[in-house]
Order: sequence, then structure tokens, then C-alpha cells
Amino acid sequence: MGENPAMSQTAPTVGFVSLGCPKALTDSELILTQLRAEGYTTSKTFEGADLVIVNTCGFIDDAVKESLDTIGEALAANGRVIVTGCLGAKGGKDTGEGGANLVRQVHPKVLAVTGPHATQEVMDAVHRHVPKPHDPFVDLVPEARADFRGVAGIKLTPRHYAYLKISEGCNHRCSFCIIPSMRGDLVSRPIGDVLNEARALFESGVKELLVISQDTSAYGVDIQYRTGFWDGQPVKTRMLELCEQLGTLAEGYGAWVRLHYVYPYPTVDHVLPLMAQGRILPYLDVPFQHAHPDVLKRMKRPASGERNLERLARWREICPEIVVRSTFIAGFPGETEAEFDYLLDFLREAQIDRAGCFAYSPVDGAAANDIPGLLPQAEREARQARFMAVAEAVSAAKLQQRVGATMQVLVDHAPALGRKGGVGRSYADAPEIDGVVRLLPPEKASKTLKVGEFTRARVVAAEGHDLVAVPI
Ligand code: SF4
Repeated sequence: MGENPAMSQTAPTVGFVSLGCPKALTDSELILTQLRAEGYTTSKTFEGADLVIVNTCGFIDDAVKESLDTIGEALAANGRVIVTGCLGAKGGKDTGEGGANLVRQVHPKVLAVTGPHATQEVMDAVHRHVPKPHDPFVDLVPEARADFRGVAGIKLTPRHYAYLKISEGCNHRCSFCIIPSMRGDLVSRPIGDVLNEARALFESGVKELLVISQDTSAYGVDIQYRTGFWDGQPVKTRMLELCEQLGTLAEGYGAWVRLHYVYPYPTVDHVLPLMAQGRILPYLDVPFQHAHPDVLKRMKRPASGERNLERLARWREICPEIVVRSTFIAGFPGETEAEFDYLLDFLREAQIDRAGCFAYSPVDGAAANDIPGLLPQAEREARQARFMAVAEAVSAAKLQQRVGATMQVLVDHAPALGRKGGVGRSYADAPEIDGVVRLLPPEKASKTLKVGEFTRARVVAAEGHDLVAVPI
């Protein structure tokens, strides 16, 4: 094939920084893939780039500061900066001129600001400041395009695991959260697109698919669980059907499917048999946030009327090996000592395998700021520490029970083919948020470990949040 003249010219370079949660990461992936599809080169550095895109997070005050600092660094090092992401949607102090925007107020020199999930707006801003390189060859390669139509694009995660976003936005209005005001109401992706993307990811070597959204159990609610099509077959846009299809698909590739952000509605019970059958990992990330009914009411939490202890017992009955991860908030406004004790009792009784806890921190624009009874910061932090002490005791006892067991481990890190050991995760560990399995040198000298492949391993010890195991 002759040389493509457009390819021989130097392509413009866009520096890219991605901050924030897995949902922001998938936005970054969409933008990066589109940039590459249009012939831009991307880089992780500011210097030498024609402009820089910063994908920001605006969830808590620390994240806001990190995002604003990064924008400042990009401006100092490069000078041409486009800001996208949750912080871009955040209002600033109203100066009386209307249209107040926090990023613009702090950094008036930025070229453009968009909110989250705005690939097209970001691309329009890029085109205005660094014209699109004309490259008909690249433009016509459909696989190079990432969009909401279900083609796997550039992934920022290591090649063997990937996040699959099934919806945007949220229909709930939890009083401590501003995500709905930034991302809007729930919009479910068409099931055919989601499954196409899943297949493309498995085809590209992904061994673990992490299903994410703001509320995975609500998938399809916005479109009345409409029947869509995939591979010529009708499939309902609903969590159960999604899990069935993903489970079947993953089986063909020997891969894992892990569910995040699942609220404990009774309908989730129907997904548990798929876990018991090994089609979906027996792992549920359920953001309980609290246990006391009055606090949950003040938080305006979804599924707060559900009997969560009974629900957990039911799940364990259907699938005894299930691992439950959750996050909680300690020191929510008005939380009494008795309400906090109730939460600690719940934690002990519910036997949550992996629990994280934030000390309550007010978020600009959240309704919870109007709830009376803000506790002093020192008290909020003390409760967080008390919570974590109980959580760690529960978790350590559960990990200890695994000593002697043989587990399937997905290898994340294995220098020198794992001859001196490596690091991996079992079904009980989601990447980046849970513990790991530290792998010792394999029992047999001939056995090697490879990143992105599975190994069986015998657990020999539990240390903190982690297990230690020998590959067999
Ligand atoms: S469920 Fe609540 S915490 Fe989660 S995104 Fe929706 S409003 Fe925010």
C-alpha cells in the first residue's frame, strides 16, 4: 500500500489528564479514542502538546482542589487548556454577571469548559483551537471510533480489565450528592450497544469486565425496560437480562463480570442464581451509606425502606460465597450516638466483607447542607475511625477463613514471569478499591505467571486487607 500523504505530516498533539471516578475514566476513554480516530496524537505530558485537556472531578472538596490545581499546572506549563468533567458543570460565586462558573472564575484563561459526558463539545473545542488533521484513511476506520454505539475504544485501564458503563445520570436525589445536578436523570444505554461493547472488550483481551453506573439495579427504568435487540434476538433493557447475556458472553472468553453500584432492591435476588452458577462473579458492591432508618431518611437514600439484613441473609442463602462491599458515611448531620451505634451493630451483624467509610464532608450545592446538626469535624473523623476499626475486624476474620482454600486469581503484576511471585486478585477483590492476593513464587519451578491470565493459588495467610497465596 502506498504512503498516505496525510499520515506523513506531523500530527498535532493533545496532552490529557484524567482525574476522578471510574465514570469519569470512561468519559476520558471516549474522548481519547475520538482524538486518535481523528488523527491527533495524545500524550500524558503538558510540555510540547498543542493543547491540554483536563478531565476533572467535582465530588468532594479535596477533588475540587486537586482538579483546580491540575488546571493551574497545565496553564503554567502549556497555556492552552480545555476543561471537561464534573467540575466543569459546577457553578461559581455569582458575580452578578450571570453564568457563573467555578473553573472560569478561578482560571479565566482556560480555552473552554464543558460538563461531564461531553465528548462532542470537547471535540468541537479542540477543533476550534487545533484544527483537525485531515486524514481520510484514519477517519474511515470504523473500529477506531469510540462512542455510545458500542465499539470498544481506547481504554485507560490495564488491558485485562475494563469498565463498562451501562447508563448515565441518576433518578435519586440523595441529600449529600450533587451528581444528578451535574449529570442529570438516568439515561440507560441501549442493551444492544452495551453488549456490543462488552463483546468488543472481550475480543480485545479483557478478562474482567466491571459494570458501572450510578445505580446498576435501575438499568432500563427510564425506558420502561424496553426490549432491544442484540445479535438478532430480543433482549429486555433490564439488569437481570443484562447479567444473563454478559454471563453467557464472558463464559466464551473465560472472563469475569463484576457488578458495581447495586442497590438492594428485591429484584436483585433474581441475579443471585447467576452468581451461584458462576456466570457472574459472586461479588456485589452495594453502597449502603448507613443503616439507621432515620439517617437513611435524612440522606434520602434509595432502597432505604428495604430490610437490608434480611436481604443479605437471602443473598447468602442463594449464593453462600457472595462477597459484599459497601461504602458508608459516618457523622452525617444530626447523627446521634445511638444512630451511630446502630450502624456499628449493623456492620457486625451484616458481616460486610469490604467496607469503606468517609467522614461526612459538606459538598457545595448539596441539600444536606441545610440539615441541622452538623457535627464538629473532629467528631466526624473519630466516628469514621471507630467505624473502620469494626469494619477491619469483620473483614480480617472473614479473610482468615480463607486460609487453606484454593482460589482462582487474575494476575495484575508478574515481573520476570512471576518466578519471584507477583500480585493478583480473586473474585473478592475489585481493582483499586479492595485488597489484593500477594502471590509467592509458584510451587513448581516450571510454572510461570502472566499479567492478564488466571492462576489457581492456595491461600497460606491473611495480612491486613490482603491474602498471601502460592500459585499451584
Ligand atoms: S444514588 Fe444518590 S449518591 Fe448515588 S448518584 Fe444518585 S443521588 Fe448521588
